[in-house]
Amino acid sequence: MNLPKNPSYRGRIAPSPTGYLHLGHARTFWTAQERAQAAGGSLVLRNEDLDRARCKPEFVTAMFEDLRWFGFQWQEGPDLGGAFAPYNQSQRYPVYRRALEKLEQTGLIYPCRCSRKDLQAAARAPHAEDDEEPIYPGTCRRLPRSEIVNRKFCWRFRVPDGETISFTDENLGPQQFTAGKDFGDFVIWRTDDVPAYQLACVVDDAAMQITEVVRGADLLVSTARQLLLYRALGLPAPRFYHCPLMTDDSGVRLAKRHEALSLRRLRERGQSPGDLRRAAISQRAP
Ligand SMILES: [Zn+2]
Repeated sequence: MNLPKNPSYRGRIAPSPTGYLHLGHARTFWTAQERAQAAGGSLVLRNEDLDRARCKPEFVTAMFEDLRWFGFQWQEGPDLGGAFAPYNQSQRYPVYRRALEKLEQTGLIYPCRCSRKDLQAAARAPHAEDDEEPIYPGTCRRLPRSEIVNRKFCWRFRVPDGETISFTDENLGPQQFTAGKDFGDFVIWRTDDVPAYQLACVVDDAAMQITEVVRGADLLVSTARQLLLYRALGLPAPRFYHCPLMTDDSGVRLAKRHEALSLRRLRERGQSPGDLRRAAISQRAP
């Protein structure tokens, strides 16, 4: 991988301990590590453990073991510390809370009390391919504050309908997504009082001074959402490098349910990290 030397390059890998890491994660993380090393910069490990119900201590232990076994080396992380600690998202709640308050002051977010059922019942507008979130119909955009007292609600970001969000992906080239058409108002703070992925990710990448985010192409549309959050929070956005997603033999995306391809199982079956790295790299789309 040829990258100009840039010691101020800061990359990150951000696994979520909701299951065992599989080869698809490892491949994306490996690209992140290669890019950080090629630039002569540093790599941060961030533990995305905000989902209290799904993140389990045994998966955290396994995550460290599996990453080390595969050959990952990070310079900052929950185990090593660093200038931007803590690196466990579960310990960063006050940072997210401040961002929420700031967004509330901008008037760009609003409480939404729609239930899962309400959202399912709402007409599904067509939205960007490869994005799993249906477009929010805007039901609560003008909800009076009195309506939310004593009711569960989440916070949603109001997207600028019709605005095209453009960025140049370092791997996939120019991208553009139109707010209100490719994606709608999105949750930034969950009903269970936990920051949503979009907010936590932006706040942390900015706070940890990440200069390039390497991740799977399933998050391309989320990059447009996150660019809006960077703007709303007055934070500089990093560059983005999206990796094609790894699929199994039948073309199905690797997910944590593909237990057979977890690093654990592959290791138990006698695969060596070197073989797996070569397999992962060879499946890289051009
Ligand atoms: Zn709503």
